[in-house]
Amino acid sequence: MSEPVYVTRSVLPPLTDFLPYVADIFASHQLTNQGKYVTKLEQDLAAYLQAQSLLAVANGTLALQLALKYLNLHGKKVLTTPFTYVATVSALLWEQCEPVFADIDPQTCCLDPVQAAAKLDSQPDIAGILPVHVFGNAVAVKEVEELAKKRNIPVLYDAAHAFGCRLNGRSIFTYGDLTIGSFHSTKLFHTVEGGCIAAQNKDARQELELLRAFGHRGDTHVLPGINAKMSELHAAMGLCLLPGIETIIAKRKAATDRYNSALEPEKTEGLRTIKLADGLEWNHAYFPVIFESEKSLKAVSDALAQEKIYPRRYFYPSLTKLPYLKPQTAPVAESIATRILCLPLWPDMEVSLIDKICTIIKQKLR
Ligand SMILES: *Cc1c(COP(=O)(O)O)cnc(C)c1O
Repeated sequence: MSEPVYVTRSVLPPLTDFLPYVADIFASHQLTNQGKYVTKLEQDLAAYLQAQSLLAVANGTLALQLALKYLNLHGKKVLTTPFTYVATVSALLWEQCEPVFADIDPQTCCLDPVQAAAKLDSQPDIAGILPVHVFGNAVAVKEVEELAKKRNIPVLYDAAHAFGCRLNGRSIFTYGDLTIGSFHSTKLFHTVEGGCIAAQNKDARQELELLRAFGHRGDTHVLPGINAKMSELHAAMGLCLLPGIETIIAKRKAATDRYNSALEPEKTEGLRTIKLADGLEWNHAYFPVIFESEKSLKAVSDALAQEKIYPRRYFYPSLTKLPYLKPQTAPVAESIATRILCLPLWPDMEVSLIDKICTIIKQKLR
């Protein structure tokens, strides 16, 4: 029997690329606390993502938490999207923020600026906006940033899915007050576990460094920090993978092109894909498909499961349904969340596997 197929498969460098880093780290005895590999990774990432300052951190969730603290959003109302991974909202809750959900655009699946404006008008105590470049698709940054500017509140982008994306000719990490990334092993670029905070303001670094490492410089205690440091071993993984990132994106593009030609979503009744933002150079991080009904999603999932192929319901349910939040509604997100499925995708995915998945889907929809 063939191996089960999951939504993704983590990319690994050749072991022979990683081992010299391990040997050097062992020899140096510097395992963490801003060693040379974390420093090098931060420099290389800042160059690649075009960030004025960039901090590597332990994971994307802590990146969000530090960013919320830095932007003085702790304990305040923050406008966000209900269609994202739960970590976006968990980070808000751990910072005692109150998430206010604005519905998404049904085509892009990102925060709808018209809905966002309505929430901001009706709740003037909203202190910041946390949009998500979901699946690497770009938020309507111009509209969102105009809304924020009018009210003099910050924008923090969750770009956990958007590593390597460019919008209007520049890195998507250059927008907003801060942008965070996740380097979890299932993400397009990874350090096993990890994340980053990117800022266009060089001064941001000082305070973020304090927040990341216990809030003190030597014996001088400045503010209450946390431990969100990245280790040297984790940075080594990033340094092994970063030089090949454009190849990884190109291979994902080849796989998504194959999906598009085999599935013909524009011609297949009862199926569509998301609409990418104008001016976006996409990273091809995910291949989400939206069905007409949850019933057809389930029929397709069951048929794929028979072949031991397990796509993921990213993101189900809509976060308006979280049992630990007070009820809110977002009809578009709630509907799409029941009908969207991310198909298996990784670099070097076999063309025959993509074709098999597409054949099963088309058969079920017929
Ligand atoms: C993965 C993810 C996070 C959290 O990142 P971790 O590194 O896993 O903590 C945050 N937001 C979104 C949208 C994600 O997909």
